[in-house]
Amino acid sequence: MMSDIKEVLISEEQIQKKVDELADQISRDYRDKHPVLVGVLNGAFVFLADLMRRIDLDCTIDFVAWSSYGKDTSSSGVFRIMKDLETNVESRHVLIVEDIIDTGLTLHYLLDTIRARKPASVKVVALLDKPSRRRIEAKADYLGFQVPDAFVVGYGLDFAQVYRNLPFIGILKPEIYAGRGTPPDELEE
Ligand code: 5GP
Repeated sequence: MMSDIKEVLISEEQIQKKVDELADQISRDYRDKHPVLVGVLNGAFVFLADLMRRIDLDCTIDFVAWSSYGKDTSSSGVFRIMKDLETNVESRHVLIVEDIIDTGLTLHYLLDTIRARKPASVKVVALLDKPSRRRIEAKADYLGFQVPDAFVVGYGLDFAQVYRNLPFIGILKPEIYAGRGTPPDELEE
C-alpha cells in the first residue's frame, strides 16, 4: 500500500498533535453543553474516533451517510440520505465532524438539513480543507489543515474504498488511478 503513495502530506504525528489541539479547544468551548458529535460516513470515522477520545466532556455520537443521485457527485449536489441521525437534535448543540471540505456542497446540504431540525447551535470541525475547489460557501469553525488541490487518501479517506487505514494523509501516485477510467473527482463518498 505504501508503494502506491507519492508523498506523505501530513504525518501521523502532525495529525495526532492537531487532534489534541482541536479536542482541547472543543472541550473548553462546549463546557457543560453535552454536544452531539455528528460524523459524516464513511470518511470521518477515523477522525471522529480519535477526536472523541480526547474530548473531556459528556458527548453523544451519531452518524449520517448519503449518496448522490447521478454520476457526478460534486456538480449535481443532489443527495439522498442513506443513514439519518438517530438522535433528536432539537435544542441540542451539534458539532458536525467532517474529513474534508472540498466543493463545500456536502457540508452546505448537511447544515441545511440539521438547521431545519432547530438545534441550539451547529458548528463544524473538519480535519482538512481544500479552499481552492469551493463551489459554494462552506467553512469549518474548527479546522485541522488546509491542503492543496490534490486527491488525498489515508486517515479515513479512501480511493475506491482502499487506503482508509493509512495513519497519515498522503497523495496517491497518478498511475494508481490512471487507467481505472474514473478520475478521483468523480468518485462518490
Ligand atoms: P464536497 O461536497 O465538499 O465536495 O466533498 C466532500 C467529500 O468528498 C468528503 O467528505 C470526501 O469524502 C470527498 N473528498 C473530497 N476531496 C477528497 C480527497 O481529496 N480525497 C478523498 N479521499 N475524498 C475526498
